[in-house]
Formats: sequence, structure tokens, C-alpha cells
Amino acid sequence: MKDCIFCKIVRNEIPSYTIYEDDVVKAFLDISQGTPGHTLVIPKKHIANIFEYDPELAAQVFSRIPKIARAIKASNPDIKGMNIVNNNGQIAYQSVFHSHFHLVPRYTTHDDFAMIFKDNSNKYSPDDLKKIQTNIIDHIGD
Ligand code: AMP
Ligand code: ZN
Repeated sequence: MKDCIFCKIVRNEIPSYTIYEDDVVKAFLDISQGTPGHTLVIPKKHIANIFEYDPELAAQVFSRIPKIARAIKASNPDIKGMNIVNNNGQIAYQSVFHSHFHLVPRYTTHDDFAMIFKDNSNKYSPDDLKKIQTNIIDHIGD
């Protein structure tokens, strides 16, 4: 897509600190470096978000993530773990609308990454959960 910043990175029209690329994906340092080594993995094909993947592209992209994650982890003995984050839609904090996966190395409990979601389990009865379950199951396609 012409005006997409990540498509421009794929075409090398704007610079990036690329750490891996092949015919399907490109992985490059996130400019924000939430923690050192913070990397984005993107499909070279422009798709906006998770809702637009077909099974083949999903398999191709996801299958490449572990080896990129392992390389990042191996690059620094202080990396103790990694969060993999994928934001979809503005409400979910997506700011670049070319699908991407954040690989965020974790160093300590007080490094610069946090992810918080509340535990609302006390607000849901088994019936409520059953309704949610059924509704989603009804929408699972092929
Ligand atoms: P998200 O908020 O999930 O859409 O993440 C978009 C990410 O893209 C942010 O973490 C930005 O720091 C990052 N970003 C934006 N422009 C660039 C760029 N030119 N090179 C590398 N990372 C970028
Ligand atoms: Zn794009």
C-alpha cells in the first residue's frame, strides 16, 4: 500500500534496523525500544490486522516468530522472558494499520513494559460464561 509506513519499510524506502527477512516477513527494531531489543515482525503483504489473515498467511507468519524470538533472547543473557503483543484496532492501541507483532524482551519485573487486565471473574456466573461461549462458537467459521 502506497502510503503505509510499514510497506515503505518493506520496500526499503525508509530505513529500518532489520534483523531478519525472507519472502514472507520482515522483522525490525521498533523505534520506541520499549525494552532493548523490542522488535516488530510484519508480513510483507499489507494486511491491516489479525482479522484479515487467511490460514496460509497466518501459518507462514506465525511459524517464523519462534526463531526470531529465540535469536533476540540469545542476543542478551539478561533477557529472562518475552511478551508477544499484537494490537488490533485503535481501541486496542493499534497505531500503525499494517499488521505487526511486538516481540518485547523482558529483563526485570520493573523494566519498561507492563500489561494489565483486570480479574473480573467474580462478576460472571457460569450461565454468563456459557452464553459468551455459545455466542462465540456460533461464529467460528472454517
Ligand atoms: P502499535 O501501536 O501496536 O500499532 O505499534 C506500532 C509501533 O510501530 C510502535 O511501537 C512504534 O514505535 C513503531 N513504529 C512506528 N514507526 C516506526 C518506524 N519507522 N520504525 C520502527 N518502528 C516504528
Ligand atoms: Zn502496509
